[in-house]
Amino acid sequence: MEKILVTRSSMPSFEEYVDEIKELWDSHWLTNMGAKHKELEARLQDYLGVAGVSLFTNGHMALELAIQAMNLSGEVITTPFTFASTTHAIVRNGLTPVFCDIDPEDYTIDVKQLESLITDRTSAIIPVHVYGNVCNVEEIERIAKKYGLKVIYDAAHTFGVRYKGRGIGSYGDASMFSFHATKVYNSIEGGAITFHDQEFGLDLYRLKNFGIRGEEVIDSIGANAKMNEFQAAMGLCNLRHVDEEIEKRKKVFEKYMELLSGVDGIQLLKPQKDVQPNYAYFPVVFHEKEFGSSRNEVCEALKAQQIFARKYFYPLTNTFDCFNGMYDVNETPTALHISKRVLTLPMYADLKEEDVERICGIILEQKR
Ligand SMILES: *Cc1c(COP(=O)(O)O)cnc(C)c1O
Repeated sequence: MEKILVTRSSMPSFEEYVDEIKELWDSHWLTNMGAKHKELEARLQDYLGVAGVSLFTNGHMALELAIQAMNLSGEVITTPFTFASTTHAIVRNGLTPVFCDIDPEDYTIDVKQLESLITDRTSAIIPVHVYGNVCNVEEIERIAKKYGLKVIYDAAHTFGVRYKGRGIGSYGDASMFSFHATKVYNSIEGGAITFHDQEFGLDLYRLKNFGIRGEEVIDSIGANAKMNEFQAAMGLCNLRHVDEEIEKRKKVFEKYMELLSGVDGIQLLKPQKDVQPNYAYFPVVFHEKEFGSSRNEVCEALKAQQIFARKYFYPLTNTFDCFNGMYDVNETPTALHISKRVLTLPMYADLKEEDVERICGIILEQKR
């Protein structure tokens, strides 16, 4: 039986990619903000509906350097129900993450608790549009304004998502997108920061290139995080097809919804008001008491049939071994509750309808 993984990378045809990279054999310009890099920035600015885009070699370095460029200090409020990258980017900048709990329905930062975590050391909020669900951007903006805080969204899951007709990357001071192979849109590896302030864009440009301002002037301690021309070429190709890919994901999503809705003990995503979604993930929360089987039992049953769902996001980042018990997981009880029960099912554009049926069949066999 063929293995089904949680995701499968979108790719253009071989011919389309070869055609895109041909020019590189004429120019011999392989990286350092070449023609492909510039073209992709311009196209993404348009597609994402934002004032500025800066490309990076991956989403994580984009986030790390965006935090550095904002000159933050002290504490940053975030959530533990996310990929390692979000928390690591904060800690690697010498800042203290303060963990806010999540909303039990859409799993984004719980804005009702956010304000109570602000201290005189707080400098920013880094919320996560987790699974492609949009955070309560209006309330976050209100709170940020009131206390003079910066807002950087981890928008790794929300490529192409629009809220109230606006590109999701246009909210907050900046947003980070990931173009990793496993995401809705990929440039093999890659990432971007979207922003409004053009000065901030120039800071990012320098920070991703060692802090070099001019041939003889290096005036910030930057890193090397430039997107290369082969990545940008893949990005240009995949951008031509991303709307079709999202349309195909929608069909997969709707099939899952049809087969799993209304089952006692199964909690699914709910459509969000005013959001144009991207169908990035299909998380299912299993409430054992009502469903009869646990998340782990369902996961094992799928694995036995060569279907590899993932426990995104388990464990919570505030319980990682590398933090040596520095954070109290009991301060985020909802995140803890969800992380023990959630399973992210295979979700990609080319997932066949019959495979969705088979996956749901195995899950429903676990209903007791
Ligand atoms: C994928 C991801 C990142 C990091 O992106 P990379 O491009 O893999 O570095 C950050 N945050 C979240 C929530 C992600 O899923």
